[in-house]
Amino acid sequence: MTDRTTAPAASTRTERFPAAIDRDYLMLIDGQWVAASGGETFSCLDPYENRSWGRVPAATGQDVDRAVRAARRAFDEDGWSRTPAALRAGLLRKLADLIEEHAEELAVLQVHENGKLLSEMLPAVKGLAAHARYAAGLAENHHGSTLPVYPGFTAYTVREPVGVIAAITPWNSPLTLLSWKLLPALAAGCTLVIKPSEVTPTSTLRLAELCEQAGFPQGVINVVTGFGQPTGAALATHPGIDKIAFTGSTAAGKAMLSAAAPRIGRVTLELGGKSPNIVFADADLDNAVHGVMGGIFAATGQTCMAGSRVLVEDSVYDEFVRALSAAADKLVVGDPLDAATDVGPLACRNQLEKVLHYIDVGHAQGARLAAGGVRDTSAPHLARGLFVRPTVFADVDNSSRLAQEEIFGPVASVVRFSGEDGAARLANDIDFGLAAAVWTGDVGRAHRMVKRLRAGTVWVNAYRVIHHAVPFGGFKQSGIGRELGPDALNDYTETKSVWIDEGNPQMFGRH
Ligand code: NAD
Repeated sequence: MTDRTTAPAASTRTERFPAAIDRDYLMLIDGQWVAASGGETFSCLDPYENRSWGRVPAATGQDVDRAVRAARRAFDEDGWSRTPAALRAGLLRKLADLIEEHAEELAVLQVHENGKLLSEMLPAVKGLAAHARYAAGLAENHHGSTLPVYPGFTAYTVREPVGVIAAITPWNSPLTLLSWKLLPALAAGCTLVIKPSEVTPTSTLRLAELCEQAGFPQGVINVVTGFGQPTGAALATHPGIDKIAFTGSTAAGKAMLSAAAPRIGRVTLELGGKSPNIVFADADLDNAVHGVMGGIFAATGQTCMAGSRVLVEDSVYDEFVRALSAAADKLVVGDPLDAATDVGPLACRNQLEKVLHYIDVGHAQGARLAAGGVRDTSAPHLARGLFVRPTVFADVDNSSRLAQEEIFGPVASVVRFSGEDGAARLANDIDFGLAAAVWTGDVGRAHRMVKRLRAGTVWVNAYRVIHHAVPFGGFKQSGIGRELGPDALNDYTETKSVWIDEGNPQMFGRH
């Protein structure tokens, strides 16, 4: 994200709708590419052209059942769960090579699905390959331990794969968020049934093809495409699922907990956020404006970690709001395939309506519109697509809906605070706890604030930096568990404790 105070970059375009994108897709069940048993399909929407493309199977409960049975068989009978770690690591490295080879294609496919900028998706896909190699390393180094116990006994632990995973993913970063589940699950020896978002199913199907090409055996990876109801619900409630790995809204996350409850199923939830981006008066304000802009306008605000609540210290409040609004007004909204674009469209019509609704809520609740606040129809190509101008609401009350509810769009809600206590109180006064950031020139203040913020990730003088080696997840209603990082495989394994009697019953201290 640039703030466009300098000359715009030269415009370079990638081909829109390259051959082979607008076609009939099949889903992957038990090593076969199949249509839905009910014969129904649905289409994707390109939010830039506002045009439907591709036809994707709408999986029935019967299709889901076949996919779960295949994953069960691959796990329980075919031996995938007992493969040597080195074999799984080798397949993950092959997959990494294939992802790199097809990086542009995977990135362009996602841009057509959800309108995210190609300039963001390309590095994200390359990051996926790096993550696959990291997961391969984790597979080879994941082990239990030998433990000091009573004389006459040997005790040790082994980490065994948890079983069949239902991986249910959202539309905003389809492949990245899938990879956070797929890669550790495969590394651990689990099998999967994946249900991508109905908005972005095709990139997952293409990645599944690459998994097949890498050599993952039949039934290890299955993909069923369809909507939350009935497809997602049929998968989440299926008795053959050992763990649900879910990323999506907090509302659907609650449904996942209920779905898993009857079988005491394992669950990892990566849910919504309303993250505070806190600007102290002693911060480098130019830097802070830049960081706040990236936090809320990158990906058109459609990220779980969006810094959507901007808390600004009162002594610099007016100056900061002016600078932020001026910078927001300069952002170039347009074609996500164009390198000169700063902000792409919203991903789907529901999302457009939701964002416009929250803009009405902001007006109704007395917030002051300082930038944007309108659907952008200022040019023919914008009028056709799903564009909203980057929006800044100032003087937002932290208890209002604009500050408390996840909008998932390019809307910054700016709230005034006074002092560290005030910042910490406002920042934590919310049901979410996914991320937070502090902008300050005082290292002591940075440390104090990091300790006080109830969030799974805290950045200092930075925003939206993530890496596969660093855990990610939420406090409070932003989720349960962590993805990524050195312990990522733990959540895809069960610990088995083994006791061996060495056969010497007379030994002292034996119980
Ligand atoms: P969503 O909850 O509507 O859907 C997510 C997935 O769940 C989709 O595949 C959907 O079909 C499925 N689904 C929905 N209802 C279901 C049900 N009852 N049973 C089974 N499956 C169901 O979310 P979305 O709109 O696709 O994504 C946006 C949300 O995701 C935002 O709230 C965002 O904050 C969150 N998100 C969180 C993270 C994170 O890491 N914490 C990352 C990205 C997105």
